[in-house]
Amino acid sequence: MPGTSPGMTSFTTKLCSEPDSEEEFMSANSALHIAVLGGDGIGPEVMAPALDVLRKIEATTDLKFRFTDAPAGANNYRETGKSMPESTVRLCDEADAILLGACGLPSVRYPDNTEIMPQVELRFHFDLYAGVRPARLIPGVPSPIVGADQRGIDLVVIRESTEGLFASMGKGVVTDTEARETLVITRKTSERLFEFSFRLAERRKARGRVGGGLTCVDKANVFKAFAFFREMFDDAAKRHSDVKADRLYVDACAALLVKRPWDFDVMVMENMFGDILSDMTAGLIGGMGMAPSADIGDRHAVFQPCHGTAPDITGQGKANPTGMILSAAMMLDWLADKHGLESAAEAGERIERAVDKVYADGIKPMEFGGSNGTADIAKAVLAAL
Ligand code: ATP
Repeated sequence: MPGTSPGMTSFTTKLCSEPDSEEEFMSANSALHIAVLGGDGIGPEVMAPALDVLRKIEATTDLKFRFTDAPAGANNYRETGKSMPESTVRLCDEADAILLGACGLPSVRYPDNTEIMPQVELRFHFDLYAGVRPARLIPGVPSPIVGADQRGIDLVVIRESTEGLFASMGKGVVTDTEARETLVITRKTSERLFEFSFRLAERRKARGRVGGGLTCVDKANVFKAFAFFREMFDDAAKRHSDVKADRLYVDACAALLVKRPWDFDVMVMENMFGDILSDMTAGLIGGMGMAPSADIGDRHAVFQPCHGTAPDITGQGKANPTGMILSAAMMLDWLADKHGLESAAEAGERIERAVDKVYADGIKPMEFGGSNGTADIAKAVLAAL
């Protein structure tokens, strides 16, 4: 929906509009303390340009940042036997926000053969129930969907991130003859998730989104757990009658997303469905390297690109840092909302405009067949700021 875009910085919202506490407000008024977890593979490669962008914001606004690096991921596990040290968790707890590159390597695994995923552990530890995965087609970026260049794509997948099928992580039971994993949907998390989602849809509407709304994506026709999920969505919809509320089964939703992605605004779904559909929506907007994300709770939030560690291109200067840079913009928007910092919201929008300009000017990441690597894209965004 070109021309009616609410902009990428309307992807985060919180449940109350006042600063959470004087202590947090004070912290925001001095320097914003950012925990920086570069992680593995291309994680540190895309993190460096995002930090350069934030340093440029710092140099040109009244915002001040204090960055603290911390180890996490597969390399840390290989060296120490832990996905991350206690000190990293403590830092994440104390910081105003957490920036994360990417973690995990297919070649490094726990004894049960699962990968090292501190990013998932942080979701559970800090109760980051709302996984916000925006997919906006930046003008100039090719989409595999016919007509997307004319109609535009500007949607947000909200993936519940602490329960669903992932509640079973590490708890699955496997015998010689069968394997079982259990899906969990709770009222406590679902109600907060729907509240968050309706508020985000309201905020996007206030920022100019025309014809939008919130779609609940589930499989309520087959599973009782999803019927329960939908029932709570319907209750929340009654409290937010200003937002158009739709319901779709996940299979029908997948088909519609590739046929008419421009019909979607905000979508909310269970963890596993969101894991899959958010990778698909990242594909709709050019590729994994374009897509930012945030995992948001009531107090903490982690901002990281949608992509993984991409071992196939690590160390070659090919990684597209756009998703990481846009994640930093989302972080500023969240901090703005949390602490009432107008200048942080403006800075977030400035970063998005700079990214848009770079693509309008014709930059083409190697990710989709162009010749521009990490350094070119980083330099161009900094210049456009
Ligand atoms: P995970 O399970 O951690 O999400 P994955 O192996 O499924 O990881 P990615 O690591 O995201 O997926 O990589 C998928 C493909 O996308 C790879 O071919 C990778 O090179 C490519 N890719 C991912 N991120 C980027 C990026 N920032 N720039 C360029 N290509 C990328």
